[in-house]
Amino acid sequence: MDEGLQTLLDAFPEASQADRALIAKAYEFARTAHEGQMRESGVPYFDHLVETAKNLIQLGADVQTIAAGLLHDSIEDAATTPEKIRQEFGDEILFLVEGVTKLGKLKYQGLKRHIDTLRKLFVATAADNRVILIKLADRLHNLRTIDALPREKQIRIAEESLQIYAPIAHRLGIGQLKGELEDAAFKTVDPEGYRRTLELRELKEAETMQELEGFTVAVTTALSNAGIEVVSTDSRLKHLYSLHKKLKKNNMDIESVYDIAAVRLLVKSVEDCYLALGIIHASWTPLPGRIKDYIAIPKTNGYQSLHTTVFTGDGAIVEVQIRTKDMHTTAERGVASHALYKEKTTLRQAKKIDELRTLIDMPKIASHVWLKELAEAGADTHEEAYLHEIKTDFFNDRILVFTPKGEAIDLPVGATPIDFAYSIHTDLGNMASGARVNGKFVALSTELMHGDIVLIETSKDGRPSAKWLQWVKTNEARRKIRLTLEITESDR
Ligand code: MN
Repeated sequence: MDEGLQTLLDAFPEASQADRALIAKAYEFARTAHEGQMRESGVPYFDHLVETAKNLIQLGADVQTIAAGLLHDSIEDAATTPEKIRQEFGDEILFLVEGVTKLGKLKYQGLKRHIDTLRKLFVATAADNRVILIKLADRLHNLRTIDALPREKQIRIAEESLQIYAPIAHRLGIGQLKGELEDAAFKTVDPEGYRRTLELRELKEAETMQELEGFTVAVTTALSNAGIEVVSTDSRLKHLYSLHKKLKKNNMDIESVYDIAAVRLLVKSVEDCYLALGIIHASWTPLPGRIKDYIAIPKTNGYQSLHTTVFTGDGAIVEVQIRTKDMHTTAERGVASHALYKEKTTLRQAKKIDELRTLIDMPKIASHVWLKELAEAGADTHEEAYLHEIKTDFFNDRILVFTPKGEAIDLPVGATPIDFAYSIHTDLGNMASGARVNGKFVALSTELMHGDIVLIETSKDGRPSAKWLQWVKTNEARRKIRLTLEITESDR
C-alpha cells in the first residue's frame, strides 16, 4: 500500500472497515484531483494534503476530519464541484470542506481591515470546531513550507498566523499547536529576533537539560518512596516566541526566566497530584508566588495542572507541572479531546453558516460563551466597536469568577460586578445595588480578578444608571443596560 496512506491508516488501528475505506477514498480522490499540480516549492501539491492530514492526526482529529483535511483544497484549487463531493462523501464532509474553502478566500490586509475575516472565522468556529481545526493544520504546513513564497506573501501569512490563528489555537486549548504556529511565524516576521532568542535558548539548553535530568530522577524517587506512582515524566523547553516576549518584558535577562524549562510529571489521580506537590515542597523550597492550582481553578481554555517553581538545591530553579494523563491530553489537544468537538453539526445549522444572527440560538456554543458574545457583538454594533470587542474579548485573556455556590462565570479581563450580574440574569443586573467580592463590600465599578467569589446585593426598586455603561466590559451587559434605560425613559 501507498506509504502516505499507510501512515494515515496506522493512526486508526481500531477504526471500522467503513472508516478506513473513507480515508483511503479521500486520499485517492485528492491525489486524482490535484494530479499534475505543484506547490511553489516544486513538490507535488498532493504532499500538502497528506501533511495537513498528518497534522490533524497529531491533533487527535476524527476520521471525517481527516478525510475533509485531504479534500480541503479540492474545491478551491482543483475545481472539483461541491456537488461532486456531496455525491462521493456526503453532506457532513462537504460542510467541512466548504467551511475551510470559505476561510481560505479571506485574505489578511492588516488587523484593522480584517474585521470581516475575523467575524467569519468566529462563525465557522462556533458552527463546528472541526472547520477551524482543519484550517489550523493547513496553516501549520503552509508556515513550515513558507520559504518558497515571495517575501510579501510570507509576511502576510505569518502576521495573520500570529494575530489570528495562534490566539484561536490558544483559545481552543491546543497549546502545542499554538507554540508551533507562533514559532514558525516568528521566524518569518522577525528573523533577527528569532535567531537571537534561539541562540540564548541554546546557550542555556545543555546546562538546563542536564540539571533537569538529575532533578527528575530525584523527584521520581522521592515520590515512589512515598507510594506515588509517576506514570511518565518529560521536560520541555519554552517555545521561542513566548520566550522572546518574556525576555522583552524582563530586559532580555534570561536568568530571570524561570520557566525556560519545565519538568512534567504525570500521576494517576487528582489526589496524587496534590500529594506529589506536598512531597516536592517538603524536599525542595518553592519560589514564593509561583504555586498555581489550575486543577481547582482551570484556565479559561480548559487547561488543568498544578504548577510550582522550586530551587533544585544546586543553584538551578525549575518549574514543575503535575497533572493526570487526562489533563495532559486536554493540554496537548484542547477541544479536539472534548466531547463538544465530537458533536455533529446538523445540516440545518450548517446551511446557516453565513447568517450570523442565527448563531445565537445554536445550543452547541453555550459552552463557548465568548464565541457567542462575539457573534452577537458582530451582529449589532458598528465595525469599530466590533473590533474593540474582539480586542477585549478575544485577544486578551478571560477570567473565571464564581458565584457563592461555586458556579464559574467566564468574563473578559476588566469586567465588574455589573457584568457578572447581567451574565447571570437581566433582573439581577437591573436590581444590583452593591456587591461583595470575597466577602468584602466593593463598589460596582470594581475590576474583578480571576478566582474572585462575587455576591450581588439587590434592592427591589433598583435600576441601572447610565454611568454603568462606562463600567461594563461585556457587550451583553451594555445591551441590557441600554435596553432597560430606554424602556424607563419612554415610560415617562
Ligand atoms: Mn491548503
